[in-house]
Parts: sequence; structure tokens; C-alpha cells
Amino acid sequence: MAEPQLVYSSKINKIRSFALILVFAGIGLMYIGLILKKIEWLMLTFFILGIISVVLSTVVYFWIGMLSTKTIAIICPTCEKPTKMLGRVDACMHCKQPLTLDKELEGKEFDEKYNSRKYKRELKKNQ
Ligand SMILES: [Zn+2]
Repeated sequence: MAEPQLVYSSKINKIRSFALILVFAGIGLMYIGLILKKIEWLMLTFFILGIISVVLSTVVYFWIGMLSTKTIAIICPTCEKPTKMLGRVDACMHCKQPLTLDKELEGKEFDEKYNSRKYKRELKKNQ
């Protein structure tokens, strides 16, 4: 089996598309419920599931709003468009160029692990 190719996209974009999928899933589930309206309990189940996923997407959108206040606006050095960064390493929203705020990580191969708590803890231990 071939290794899955890692296409890194900006975290905010990733979360946003997840929220969008949830909205469509919710609408889809409610639509299925509508088709199955002859079976009352099944219709209700699909409706409740649909509402849950729509509510969840609202929560996710709210969360993006919260996260956006913590991002750092920068100009991407590669495509020279303004982008937002979240965490120590992130990717440009436009050209997917990996970006870092940490001088220590400059020039290193891009890895999402640099954002994890575990990595930070290990870094402290080694110092
Ligand atoms: Zn860029």
C-alpha cells in the first residue's frame, strides 16, 4: 500500500471545511428523515441527528471565530498575500507554503508535530 501523501493545509481552512461538511451532513440527514416520514421513529432519529450536526457546525464556526482572534496576520514570503497563522507552525492559506514563527524550526522539514504538547514537553526535557 502506498503511503498517503500529506497535503498540508492551513488549520483554519481545515476546520472551516469540516464545519461546512457538518452543515451539509445535517441537511442531508434531515432530508433522509423527510423521505422516511412513513416510519415515524426513523424520521425522528434522522431529524435529531441532522439537528445535532447543524448545531455542532455552529459550535465549530464559533470556535473558528475564537481561534481567529489568536491568529497572527502575516504576509506570506512566497506568494506575498496576507495570511493567518495559528500555532508555531502553519501553512499559508493561499499557496500552502509551510510557515513558522520559531527561529529554531526555520529550515527544518515541516512537521505538524511541532504544534503538539507532547513535542513541547520533550523539548523541555532535553534542555
Ligand atoms: Zn503563500
